[in-house]
Amino acid sequence: MATHTTRMLIIGSGPAGLSAAIYGARAGLAPIVVQGLQPGGQLTITTDVENYPGFRDVIQGPWLMQEMQAQAEHVGTRMLWDTITEIDLSGPPFRAIGDSGDIYEGETLVIATGAQAKWLGVDGEQTLSGKGVSACATCDGFFYRGKKVVVIGGGNTAVEEALYLTNHSPDVTVIHRRDSFRAEKILQDRLFANEKVSVAWNKAVKSFVGDPASGGLTGVEVVDTETGETSIIPADGAFVAIGHAPATELFKGKLELDSSGYIVVQPGTPKTAIPGVFACGDVMDHTYRQAVTAAGTGCMAALDAERFVAEREFAAKG
Ligand code: FAD
Ligand code: NAP
Repeated sequence: MATHTTRMLIIGSGPAGLSAAIYGARAGLAPIVVQGLQPGGQLTITTDVENYPGFRDVIQGPWLMQEMQAQAEHVGTRMLWDTITEIDLSGPPFRAIGDSGDIYEGETLVIATGAQAKWLGVDGEQTLSGKGVSACATCDGFFYRGKKVVVIGGGNTAVEEALYLTNHSPDVTVIHRRDSFRAEKILQDRLFANEKVSVAWNKAVKSFVGDPASGGLTGVEVVDTETGETSIIPADGAFVAIGHAPATELFKGKLELDSSGYIVVQPGTPKTAIPGVFACGDVMDHTYRQAVTAAGTGCMAALDAERFVAEREFAAKG
């Protein structure tokens, strides 16, 4: 068991953590990134990325994350393969313990543990993921131009995703397990007024239908929750929009979390209520949830961490 010390400890290796690392390393903070169970983060489970600035042609999510990691290492970041299981925020130094038993101490702490889309857990969902089944309309909606798509869910996210998809698709069906939405009324009004959208009420998804090897998704098998009748709703794309779960278990009782479990930061900044502890990316943002916004807030966290270290050094000199 080893103890690793740094002026900037980063938990998470998605776009937020790696962007913080690039800025932190260039500021001389010699960051350590603890990568977690998904090195590279959520973009490593997707294929085409068309909206990350700087690339005219389509790029692959895993490739983009390899490049980000290489850039972070090139400027002086240490990448360590571990998952944090315990955290002590009474510092600085802030102290984390990894699954390996190793101890990590950071003069500043950048939390970039991200969020994961919730999935239905039904047949075909994982095998057709990226081949018709998605959890991000902003990311993948463009691939279904002129095609028939469905959205599963009845909250704000589902309604917003459905409205967004009408920019690309002339035929959007929202599949919801009850007979009313929980989404805000203003969003519902917009949805019901949109001629491209229809709603399949009282339908629970039983499976996603299609062949991953040839053409992908063809439809969604649903059960009517009132009659028990099974049917198939044809679709080229299906967007699961039943919520996201931020990876904040570690911070419960230690940092303020909002009602959905996201870390609360001071508005317009990555600062938590604890000086020297910053949160960036999807773990503090349930609205935008994009690679570019995660990278942007990662940069902000590193700049604020650098200022925090500089102010402490200045104060220590007296
Ligand atoms: P994440 O990418 O979620 O990374 C979180 C990191 O934290 C991971 O490395 C994980 O291992 C680590 N971690 C978690 N817990 C611990 C722990 N206890 N200890 C150590 N490490 C931990 N966005 C776009 O802009 N364009 C797209 O085309 C696009 N496509 C997408 C396709 C899919 C299928 C998905 C799921 C998302 C897509 N997104 C896209 C969204 C984008 O991936 C996220 O917004 C972005 O990855 C968030 O970055 P992040 O760094 O905040 O967190
Ligand atoms: P949410 O409000 O929790 O809604 C999730 C929806 O998915 C619900 O309609 C739920 O059905 C359905 N659902 C959950 N599990 C399911 C399952 N296993 N099978 C089928 N359906 C399932 O999640 P969200 O829409 O992602 O919103 C999360 C939070 O972010 C909310 O506080 C929301 O207000 C906020 N948000 C705000 C905005 C905005 O202000 N513009 C945008 C997006 C999100 P039931 O209704 O039957 O439970």
